[in-house]
Amino acid sequence: MQALKEMSFKELLKALGLGAIALVLSVEWVNWMARRLRDSRGPLKEVLFFPSPQVCIEHLFTSHMRFPCACPLPHGVKTSFSRLMEHLLSTRTSLDLCIFSFSNMELSRAIFLLHKQGVIIRVVVDREYMSITGSQIGALRKAGINVRHEMSSAVHMHHKFALVDGRKLISGSLNWTLTGVQSNKENVIVTEEPELVRPYQLEFLKLWEASDPANHRAQSLNGQLKL
Ligand SMILES: [Zn+2]
Repeated sequence: MQALKEMSFKELLKALGLGAIALVLSVEWVNWMARRLRDSRGPLKEVLFFPSPQVCIEHLFTSHMRFPCACPLPHGVKTSFSRLMEHLLSTRTSLDLCIFSFSNMELSRAIFLLHKQGVIIRVVVDREYMSITGSQIGALRKAGINVRHEMSSAVHMHHKFALVDGRKLISGSLNWTLTGVQSNKENVIVTEEPELVRPYQLEFLKLWEASDPANHRAQSLNGQLKL
């Protein structure tokens, strides 16, 4: 009887072991299939059009909401704006922004949250538009986020693009304003295609260096010395 019990126990262990192996193999198989499906579609390519209807996006900021949100906006609705926010909030390490006009409070809330999470954020903005009414640039600087502005007042830094973790590009006509999101006809492309992402990375670095205040001061001093 004891031998039978021991055998049963051993067999039970064996069966559990086999079950665990089968589970691991099936998870691996599902992952492999998902990878194949993703690879067959190529890198991420997505197009978002605006205006975007106003819906509640509170769940994007508070993933562990204990109670259903009580705000009057529609819930559980995906929009171009909620998708844009999902892409931005997916940032894990670095976010580089070139934004002509930035006054949208929900977008700035996302930037503050990422900053709080330790994401390294660099922002290049337009010299004139950074100080218009409602601009979030002062608040970003106050929070300790690295912001540089176009040095020339003769031209605009008119780009509207974001680089998420150096591998995802978000670019289009959309200014980060309430009007841009809710009223204007705008477009945004989101892609992880390396051939498109790389030139934007290089352009960002070029603008970042060109907007370095240290360079600007050096140029001013040179100018004064020449005089
Ligand atoms: Zn709500």
